[in-house]
Amino acid sequence: MFKKILIANRGEIALRIIQACRELGIATVAVFSTADRDSLHVTYADEDVCIGPPASKDSYLNISRIIAAAEITGADAIHPGYGFLSENAHFAEVLQECKIGWIGPRPEVIRLMGDKAKARQTAAAAGVPVLPGSPEPLEGAEHARQTAASIGYPIILKASAGGGGRGMRIVWKEEEIEGQFSTAGEEAQRAFGNGAIYMEKYLVEPRHIEFQVFGDKYGHVVHMGERECSIQRRHQKLIEESPSPALTPALREEMGAAAVALCRAVGYENAGTIEFLLDSDGRFYFMEMNTRIQVEHPVTEMVTGIDLVKLQLEVAMGHKMTVPNGLKPRGHAIECRINAENPDTFAPSPGPLKTFHLPGGPGTRVDTHGYEDYVIPPHYDSLVAKLIVHDRTRGEAIQRMSRALDFFVVEGIHTSIPLHRRILRDDDFIAGKLSTRFMERFLQKHREDGGPGR
Ligand code: ADP
Repeated sequence: MFKKILIANRGEIALRIIQACRELGIATVAVFSTADRDSLHVTYADEDVCIGPPASKDSYLNISRIIAAAEITGADAIHPGYGFLSENAHFAEVLQECKIGWIGPRPEVIRLMGDKAKARQTAAAAGVPVLPGSPEPLEGAEHARQTAASIGYPIILKASAGGGGRGMRIVWKEEEIEGQFSTAGEEAQRAFGNGAIYMEKYLVEPRHIEFQVFGDKYGHVVHMGERECSIQRRHQKLIEESPSPALTPALREEMGAAAVALCRAVGYENAGTIEFLLDSDGRFYFMEMNTRIQVEHPVTEMVTGIDLVKLQLEVAMGHKMTVPNGLKPRGHAIECRINAENPDTFAPSPGPLKTFHLPGGPGTRVDTHGYEDYVIPPHYDSLVAKLIVHDRTRGEAIQRMSRALDFFVVEGIHTSIPLHRRILRDDDFIAGKLSTRFMERFLQKHREDGGPGR
């Protein structure tokens, strides 16, 4: 049993983990950088330790400082949240050596799935469909050219070590392949310290559909349905929902079974997400696996009634999971990511929250570390709040979200609230006609009439 847990993260997810620990009677330790002294995760944790200056590499990514904080406070285990060290296999290994628990999958599995080229091979070996592509990282520009010729354009170049939507390049024709291949390699080397690049067929108008999976220490693996995350800008998700308007029960079962097969093949433990691309003919392909809790986990919580963070803690403590496979979703949930950014230019907008009035009411949830007079520091990602609603049908959930956005009042900084309002009124969005290129079209449409923010 864990008596005390250290949370190696900040912001809304740190607070979310503290909530789950409190309900389970587990004490919490917050770590924070000097930029986050006034953050709510510090206020609400039972203990807190300053681990360094604002730069992430000196604080939230600094393994030795985090371990020192765990040792000083006598924490039994670490919850990494998402981002930062959550998919760092080395960190998970060091914790094992220090006899500190880890709330996540085994380090070998993190390492395997963190290498996107290897993850792809593993998925294919488990019988999960993958897009045509290079099984191994490409050996050079000529190899890239030959592989692309055999797959057919367009193709996408991806960094094996990539993540967060970075390090990807779409190549439309042969003339561009050699140049793009070398730029992609240099970029990947700079961003991830690993220049390995692989290639797959580029789908022009797919949907991003991901499955929530969970495994316990006794080989019980389940999926908990899907999230549709096609509303993205520059590969960054803006709105997520569950269930997907594109999935029939039969397709859900088929994709869910593929997700579970892959988890079984690697002996997956704890929370994970299998991301797929779905084409307009209903064919799906494995894209990648995230070996952690996702930002958008609340939409799954709303339609399944399961507290995923609590479940993470329970399975890490060795509890047997009693959740049945493929729970039928109940109603419809939507999440809007409220970012501190200009809704027209997308420029970051850190600063003081002069007014911060949260919406409430039926089926309305806000996950945030913000409060009135809190100053959003400029050093980290721009997510200030996640607004999640649940209702009986997708149409009603859209109505409820529109109402909740109207009642969410933020002054002092720019936020993406006006952009979300406008997306929710869009005919294609309302009709459920979604694809990963939705935002590109949407922004194009609204450029003429004065920007999406208005
Ligand atoms: P990351 O790990 O950086 O988030 P992913 O592999 O998950 O990268 O891809 C992020 C997004 O890029 C997807 O949601 C999708 O919009 C787009 N994408 C990735 N691979 C393809 C592909 N083969 N065809 C079309 N779009 C793709």
